[in-house]
Amino acid sequence: MKFGGTSVENGEKIRHVAELLKQYHMDGNELVAVTSALGGVTDGLLTTANEVSKNGKVSQVKEFITDLSKKHYDAINVAIDDEKIRSECVDSIDTRVDELEKALIGICYLGELTNRSIDYISSYGERLAAPIVSGSIRSLGIPSQSFTGGEAGIVTDSNYGDARLLEDSYTLVKSKLGPLLKENIPVVTGFIAHNKQGIITTLGRGGSDFSASIIGASVDADEIWLWKEVHGIMTTDPKIVPESRPIPQISYIEAMELSYFGAKVLHPRTIEPAIKHKIPVRVKNTFEPEFPGTLIVAEQKQIEDVVKAVTLINKVALINISGAGMVGTIGTAARVFSALANAGVNITMISQGSSEANLSLVVNEDQLEAAVAAVRSEFTTNVVGDVAYDRDVCVVAVVGAGMDGIPGVAGKVFYSLGNAGINIIMISQGSSQHNISFVVSSDEALDAVKTLHCEFELDKQ
Ligand code: ASP
Ligand code: MG
Repeated sequence: MKFGGTSVENGEKIRHVAELLKQYHMDGNELVAVTSALGGVTDGLLTTANEVSKNGKVSQVKEFITDLSKKHYDAINVAIDDEKIRSECVDSIDTRVDELEKALIGICYLGELTNRSIDYISSYGERLAAPIVSGSIRSLGIPSQSFTGGEAGIVTDSNYGDARLLEDSYTLVKSKLGPLLKENIPVVTGFIAHNKQGIITTLGRGGSDFSASIIGASVDADEIWLWKEVHGIMTTDPKIVPESRPIPQISYIEAMELSYFGAKVLHPRTIEPAIKHKIPVRVKNTFEPEFPGTLIVAEQKQIEDVVKAVTLINKVALINISGAGMVGTIGTAARVFSALANAGVNITMISQGSSEANLSLVVNEDQLEAAVAAVRSEFTTNVVGDVAYDRDVCVVAVVGAGMDGIPGVAGKVFYSLGNAGINIIMISQGSSQHNISFVVSSDEALDAVKTLHCEFELDKQ
């Protein structure tokens, strides 16, 4: 069971989490708890590190550390009743906060912040949270022990900031946590791991879900539960469509499509280990544990729900590369893509019509300038006539494995958008047929999502 930052935001919430864990433990389940940092802490650590590396203000570090300690002391006082456990917990928090303060002051003086130091600093969110969650469980009379990801056996390469898991981790985690499970609820820090040398690495922002999935696969769990502050994976963003509702069951493939498409319910890599080991993943609401949530399973229920969800991706930009010289010129696409790859640009969508006279791409908005410059400098001859771009666009994706082989879905999508007077700028459907993605101008994007949500009756059970 993994608990997100909002689920462990403060002492009351941590106590609630400990009570939930106790209840499932008493019901005869073997559990591992994975915790995120207390809500907002990771952001605070990153911002502070970043700012003090530029301004060198030791006073800012001191202030931050005071607030951070207070936040965690407050949590301890509410989450842990037992005096002895409480003072042990305070000791371990003090030790860690001390180390953190030294590291931040070091950054002030050095004035530099490497990826390795960023991982080290940001690991403190989870490393401060885990002893409190574990202490809270113990204070309810259940044995518990806290581990960092690395201590629990999660080992990665040294790609700081977005480290890749090493395969040995699975057996290592099993050997470290497996023997404890009968009596104990181990609490493991999400998000962080270490490399072979024992240096702290992280699995990318929001990586705690991934940690949970790695651990679940390692101990051969019956299910992996991700406790969040929402009812599950939603048919769309409730801020756009208030009638959106949680999806009761969804396949691994659909969930992956959704996470790639900006529905930030799951870290995209989260379910890889679950898929490999065929372990169902459940997304549940910490604050309404009775609600079933969303179950993510291997098999795809076709027909019933042709379209499961509609998602919107903001902060993207469209690039249109055109020119009569492109027609039949072999290697044009290869040159475009290598130029972009060399410039470190990630491409979200691609479309080329069969006339070959233009190639459209979608990239993240913050990479637009680099992308345009790269393509322009690659084509100085007249193969490419023009490289135009548009920032004011959004991508909308319609996702559902049930679309595979069902005629008329694309027709319905574009017909309903046409009726709503929404102009489609670019279209792309992968041959997996699990999603149809298209680009619209930003001011029509919300309408597009609403129209499709209604058209496919996603608001109805
Ligand atoms: N605390 C980390 C973050 O905010 C990891 C997580 O919450 O999953 O990105
Ligand atoms: Mg988080």
